Amino acid sequence: MTEILFDDDVPREIKGAALPIVERWAWLVPQWCLWLHVGNTTVLPENGGYALSTTREEYRFARITLTPGWLEEAEREREFGIVHELLHIPIAPMHQLMGTAMEKSENEPYKALVEEQWRKAMEGAVQDLAHALVNHAH
Ligand SMILES: [Zn+2]
Repeated sequence: MTEILFDDDVPREIKGAALPIVERWAWLVPQWCLWLHVGNTTVLPENGGYALSTTREEYRFARITLTPGWLEEAEREREFGIVHELLHIPIAPMHQLMGTAMEKSENEPYKALVEEQWRKAMEGAVQDLAHALVNHAH
């Protein structure tokens, strides 16, 4: 069972809005992920997203970071954003494998092309799954 750990500095209103969503969808987190940290940032991300995640399978944890726009979104969008990030966790080892495989390539243009296509394919799959799950649940 994954332990959900909010950072101490997450504002009460953000934790209050995020915790029920994270708990509702925690079953998406693979069993090897023992700790799911949830934090927030006041820095807007470059890609404009309202949540982001990092996964460290080898240390058995993942982290979701909510950005300033997250709380401003409608409840359905907030849920969608968190489900999207939770879906990145089981996919992260595959994503990291591609990164490791590409490190061996010395063909920089090819490497950049494959990495970008792989990123798009992964984001598309995560987005489609998140939409399907959230729409099915409502
Ligand atoms: Zn994503």
